[in-house]
Amino acid sequence: MIQKRIAIGGILHETHTFMPQRTRLADFQRQSFYEGDAVLSAMTGTHSGIGGMIAAANDWVMLPILYAAAMPSGIIVRAAYEALRERFIARLRAVLPVDGVLLALHGAMVSEGIHDAESDLVAQIRGLVGGETPIVIELDMHGNISNRLCDLADVLVAYDTNPHIDMYERGGEAGQIMRRLLNDAIAPTHAYRQAGLLLAPQYTGTGDAPLLAVHQRRAMIEQDEDVICVAVMAGFAYADTPDTGVSIIVTTDDHPQKAEEYAEELAELSRQQAHNLELALRSPDDAVMQAKGADGGPVILVDSADNIGGGTPGDGTDLLAAMLRHDVQEGTIVLADAEAVTKCHHAGEGAVITSSVGGKTDRWHGEPITVTGTVQRLSDGVFTCELRDNPFASFYGDTIQMGKTAWLRVAGVNIILTEHKTPPFDLAQLRHIGVIPEQQKMIVVKSAVAYRAAYLPIAAAVIEVDCAGLCSANLSRFDYKYLKRPIVPLDSLSPS
Ligand SMILES: [Zn+2]
Repeated sequence: MIQKRIAIGGILHETHTFMPQRTRLADFQRQSFYEGDAVLSAMTGTHSGIGGMIAAANDWVMLPILYAAAMPSGIIVRAAYEALRERFIARLRAVLPVDGVLLALHGAMVSEGIHDAESDLVAQIRGLVGGETPIVIELDMHGNISNRLCDLADVLVAYDTNPHIDMYERGGEAGQIMRRLLNDAIAPTHAYRQAGLLLAPQYTGTGDAPLLAVHQRRAMIEQDEDVICVAVMAGFAYADTPDTGVSIIVTTDDHPQKAEEYAEELAELSRQQAHNLELALRSPDDAVMQAKGADGGPVILVDSADNIGGGTPGDGTDLLAAMLRHDVQEGTIVLADAEAVTKCHHAGEGAVITSSVGGKTDRWHGEPITVTGTVQRLSDGVFTCELRDNPFASFYGDTIQMGKTAWLRVAGVNIILTEHKTPPFDLAQLRHIGVIPEQQKMIVVKSAVAYRAAYLPIAAAVIEVDCAGLCSANLSRFDYKYLKRPIVPLDSLSPS
């Protein structure tokens, strides 16, 4: 038997189109960038989607093309995207002919002038391999998918979990579907629906409303033997494109009517479930007053709009301003501000200084605030995580380096200024410089989820706050230009 020749690779980026900074080729090269055989040596045995595809390959000749991924960030510079695409296409051309193409893509990649970069890439791949060669794609469930991409691919598979823990399994599933296609065992036909629904990332957990019920029904539908797979796409609300939002892709084995019915049902179900979404966000003033009145402490004030893990600068000032306005005693906030830190280090411990702090990176995270206070303590910003089995320490290492750091005390508020932004995943971040977290009345955390392991055990209460920021759950803060309207929740629900 002649072995099948399967090309494998991917270009992945979750593009936040409202971020002012552009993403460059160097951002991919610094993070994940492999070409040719390096794709196999780097990805074999990993829990990634590509890892799952490789494991499913067994008797195929794998033809590794290119794999590039960068952390969520702003729009990709056109020349950078085109360079990635041209390198991908040149390497694919060099290994032709192929019997199939397996791709791992995100689905929310945007370049300058290209809203739907995945379709642009796959159209070129399709042009090269021809209409008869199967293309199976694994997507991140945060992709904003177009009907064009559905038409270009044979089958689209998507992660079913958030936090994402099934990339490997879905990659393996993509491999199994490829095998059935190569054996002419299936004739895929798909239905695609946009739900007319926009979800902030905070509301895309698959263990909570609205997606939990949709995935429970999805799992039942996938038991139908006429169904090949169902992709429930939560979308990425911070990518402003005509395809942004929740979409459903149902692929059946030659049952187009069934595909349409299931896709319609799941789109309707996701809209219904979104009616139950409670926006529990408090204004900064309300949150601070509530924390002041709470029994004990510390109350954790969650600023998920300035979620450092989502790519924001960590210098948002809305809650600092509110704490100062309300004369808070023992309130703590960490701000990344290299300029203010340098000022503190020049002045020395015990000095009284006046400085503007925070709000310096862009115009999205509040204004810089001018404060006068005492430099309580200076440090090199190096601390060892105190939380055992810290999931973030396994990623960053046990010893964290925040760069030069200073504790500036302004009235009753402790401002910890750091040279480099650092997510709030360990209490040693405060303790190493002398601020005792357990003795605070309130603590601001710039995070959506990462703070929980360290801060929930000491929290008297947790309040989600509606601050200014590029990761805000309040989507009305964003000025969408390309989004298809009407869409829930930006536009009122149409009467049925
Ligand atoms: Zn995702």
